[in-house]
Amino acid sequence: MTVHKETFISLLDRNRVSDRREDLLEYGRDWTRQQAPDPCLILFPKTSDEVQKIVSYCCEHNIKIVPSGGRTGLAAAAVAANQEVVVSFQKMDHIISVDIESGSIDVEAGAILENVQKTAAENGMFFPMDFAARGSCQIGGCISTNAGGLKVIKYGMMRDLVLGIEVVTPAGGILHLNSNLHKNNSGYDLKQFFIGAEGTLGLITKATLKIVPKPKNLQLALMATDNFAAILEILKSAKLKSLDITAFEFFTKPCLQAVLNHAHNCRNPFAEIYPLYVMLEIDCGDRADDLQYFAESVEPLILDGALSLNHQTFRELWAYRENIPETIPKLGQVHKNDIAVPISSMPSFIMKLEKMVSEKYSAFQVLLFGHIGDGNIHVNIIDKTRMPMAEFTKITDELDMEMCRLIKSCQGSISAEHGIGLLKKKLMHLHRNPEEIQMMKHIKSVFDPKNICNPGKIIDL
Ligand SMILES: Cc1cc2nc3c(=O)[nH]c(=O)nc-3n(C[C@H](O)[C@H](O)[C@H](O)COP(=O)(O)OP(=O)(O)OC[C@H]3O[C@@H](n4cnc5c(N)ncnc54)[C@H](O)[C@@H]3O)c2cc1C
Repeated sequence: MTVHKETFISLLDRNRVSDRREDLLEYGRDWTRQQAPDPCLILFPKTSDEVQKIVSYCCEHNIKIVPSGGRTGLAAAAVAANQEVVVSFQKMDHIISVDIESGSIDVEAGAILENVQKTAAENGMFFPMDFAARGSCQIGGCISTNAGGLKVIKYGMMRDLVLGIEVVTPAGGILHLNSNLHKNNSGYDLKQFFIGAEGTLGLITKATLKIVPKPKNLQLALMATDNFAAILEILKSAKLKSLDITAFEFFTKPCLQAVLNHAHNCRNPFAEIYPLYVMLEIDCGDRADDLQYFAESVEPLILDGALSLNHQTFRELWAYRENIPETIPKLGQVHKNDIAVPISSMPSFIMKLEKMVSEKYSAFQVLLFGHIGDGNIHVNIIDKTRMPMAEFTKITDELDMEMCRLIKSCQGSISAEHGIGLLKKKLMHLHRNPEEIQMMKHIKSVFDPKNICNPGKIIDL
């Protein structure tokens, strides 16, 4: 690799080509920790032109590339474990321009999600993609995972928020796929291939994203209940009352306990701890009492409730939900799944899942939280005994297989928003039929005939 290193230094500069051990370990991984990182070099391009030169050289010399964003991914899709070259977008983090008339914002791929949100807000607009990793994840990563998050129920997933992208193809070409056009039916919409492709089809260098008018008056209700049927009733009732729902989240008692025990400044919102919690955020607009009236109307369904009275209580109530992903790992080893089933099947799916775990995997605890309004929950399996990793992986592999069959029986998905990466690859055949997998392989080989772009992620060629 020494000869290649010198070429990359000539393409970039010495400070932006690293084989320092701490960089290899840091940039060769994502948020998951199952695979040991082992990249050969980390590159930090500053422009699309530099990315194009890197990729052309890699293509010519059959060098494997792993595109790397904020490394908050939860599917090991940004892991470089086989001597790949990591292309980090950290130095391509500019927000280029805002166009309010068109409702769009132009950014480089390494722009941090939170900075995009702030820039939109400074311009009187709103970028609705939002989740707890906002301070670290990058737009290129969000597009490549087709991220979801807290506001999908109203604004959709990343796919719904991308107007255009610039991509460097694995052969070293550059594609400008739509700019800020909201309408463009001139043949196949090629940008869609790259959204959710987990960096396997090309490297996204720039994006034009949709921004929308700011919500006028967001208010939040935290409600406790002891049954799933009540949660679905609350959602149905909010929809039938035409409330402008901007988020509908849920979590179970052990999640709240984890937050109360391990997050700073979080006190129990109620006098007791209840089995289930649901959070309803709505944009009340000029009708400030809407949420209050709604809460009164669903009182028979709930055991206790709290409403946001001002910005501070709004943030305090959100903190219960937002602290969950960070506090769960403090309970023990965690095995994560991110599943979707039709919302109406959710109560029976959860009942069967909990029964299966308590009967067959009693050493484990199940913690559930997530975007229930989208039919998406995060299933966290905790091993408090801290068994050896190999044993934990073997048992959770078996558990996953059983859970997949359950998901399939509900016509659900094994990955709602986190993607497949390396972690969920072994489950693909249970969820996608052989024709679909074959078609994905064809698409991969059209875009990346030499299989140099994030090889081994999602599917094996
Ligand atoms: C606390 C926490 C909460 C989270 N909550 C949510 C949530 O609610 N919803 C959700 O959807 N996700 C969530 N995630 C997962 C994660 O934050 C998202 O998947 C995010 O989109 C990943 O962005 P990233 O920049 O960190 O990408 P990375 O992890 O660096 O990479 C993810 C994938 O994108 C590829 N990639 C990165 N940049 C580019 C590029 N420029 N061009 C081509 N490919 C690229 C990588 O190769 C990899 O395949 C959460 C993660 C954490 C840690």
